[in-house]
Amino acid sequence: MSKRKIKVVVIAFLLVVLSFYGMNQGNIQAVELKNKQVLLANNIIKSIKYQKDIMTELEILKNKENQNTDALNINLTLEMTFQKTLENLEIESIKDKLEFQLVNKQILSVGNTAKLPYLGDGSYTWPVEGYFHVSQYYGGIHKGVDINTLGAHPNVVAVQTGIVVKAGNENDGFGNKVIIYHGENTYTLYAHLQTIKTQVGQYIEEGTPVGIVGHTGDSTGDHLHIQLTKTGDVENNTIDPYEYIKLVENK
Ligand SMILES: [Zn+2]
Repeated sequence: MSKRKIKVVVIAFLLVVLSFYGMNQGNIQAVELKNKQVLLANNIIKSIKYQKDIMTELEILKNKENQNTDALNINLTLEMTFQKTLENLEIESIKDKLEFQLVNKQILSVGNTAKLPYLGDGSYTWPVEGYFHVSQYYGGIHKGVDINTLGAHPNVVAVQTGIVVKAGNENDGFGNKVIIYHGENTYTLYAHLQTIKTQVGQYIEEGTPVGIVGHTGDSTGDHLHIQLTKTGDVENNTIDPYEYIKLVENK
């Protein structure tokens, strides 16, 4: 082999080694990001639960104060401690949520999110503000539920807390759509939106607007088409969302 050929072979070999190294670095980074994502999700869930517990304790304390004025001074000290703890938890929680969104965005720009614990609290919110008319139920080729707004354009809200994994138009018939991942294998999809009010990576709390009702994509009039899955594939393998959201229909 000539010196020139050897040189070419060595360079080619180094390039292969370096690209493997680069790929591995990328993988390591993705794994680290996913671990961080899961950690932050757990922190947020824990903090919300803790905050709820403290608020319950505060409620009990306030009832006691009303009944027994003798114990008022002791209770007020306790009450202040609870309030302070609550404030600190809220600040911590805001920091975690911001960092969570940053990590979500980074991961989702290159691939899929980690498998997250369930972010919701089990209850669901009706998805369209002020409108309750179901124009088409779930069944057959119709993989979701249609809520007709008779030409109005109210907010569409997240039925459950989660992170936004898709927000845009993919020319697939859904028009402007938002997909929210709620953890485990639960996802919801909101279709035909006139405008989108959220972005990929956002940590979105139950009841927060994701967009406005419209008729983009394969749609003849203004309505929300909503889909739900508990097996991961919200575009194709869905279950009836009405069973979950109907409980709040007439609130
Ligand atoms: Zn529909």
